[in-house]
Amino acid sequence: MKTLCILSKMTVTATSPVSYCFSTKEQSILLNDFLGQKIQLQFTHNIYCIACNKTIKKSYQDGYCFPCTQKLPQCDLCIVKPERCHLHLGTCRQPTWGESNCMIPHVVYLANASGVKVGITRKSQVPTRWIDQGAIAAMALFEVPTRRISGHVEVLLAKYVKDKTNWRKMLSGHDGSIDLIQERKVLLPSIQKDLEIILNTFGCEVQLLEGPISQFQYPILAYPKTINSLSFDKTSTIEGTLQGIKGQYLILDTGVINVRKHTGYEVNVKLG
Ligand SMILES: [Zn+2]
Repeated sequence: MKTLCILSKMTVTATSPVSYCFSTKEQSILLNDFLGQKIQLQFTHNIYCIACNKTIKKSYQDGYCFPCTQKLPQCDLCIVKPERCHLHLGTCRQPTWGESNCMIPHVVYLANASGVKVGITRKSQVPTRWIDQGAIAAMALFEVPTRRISGHVEVLLAKYVKDKTNWRKMLSGHDGSIDLIQERKVLLPSIQKDLEIILNTFGCEVQLLEGPISQFQYPILAYPKTINSLSFDKTSTIEGTLQGIKGQYLILDTGVINVRKHTGYEVNVKLG
């Protein structure tokens, strides 16, 4: 099949294995159906900002034009550093956005994508966020009432465990199993005192969650032996046999491509 598509984050469903779709306004293509088949993505050299839809030469922060990164709340520094959420100071770039995206329940979690890591997400993004990171297992540790508090709790935990995924390791397929319950048992007493200080400061309660552990299997025929990173910033045509999908990556026999990073790129997609 052939279709013209503006790339965006693949939509995921937590089936076993995980289901991945290229979704456009008109259609949704289940990529799992094309495992083991040829896939060709041909960049038309049009990129559209996902916020203002303007044609751009280069995208920033996975899909925005530069001016949008300077004015939209979802592009502010506090998105990657949630403990710096500044809505309460009256300086949010768009307070109504902050109210509906940051002043809502967030979850602090442990995941294993390339080893154990801590992260935060809106409660409504569980388990999508975990799948997007290519986690093979994840569990929520706390539920807190706002993004800012989740950021402060994450900072405490990040003293002991990583807060980043090593994507090369995640795609290498050496999925070492980690006992997240055991990790949790060790971590919680380490942060107990500092956690109480945060809770007192914010005058809030956190909900301590006890699992369950979510586990994910990905549609993968073979992991790459060496990881060759493909990008439309280097080449116009990316093609190969689809060997697997994990996180937001397509694994081809010719290399791997981070689909999310190419959000807004217009491509001719040829499948099968
Ligand atoms: Zn824009």
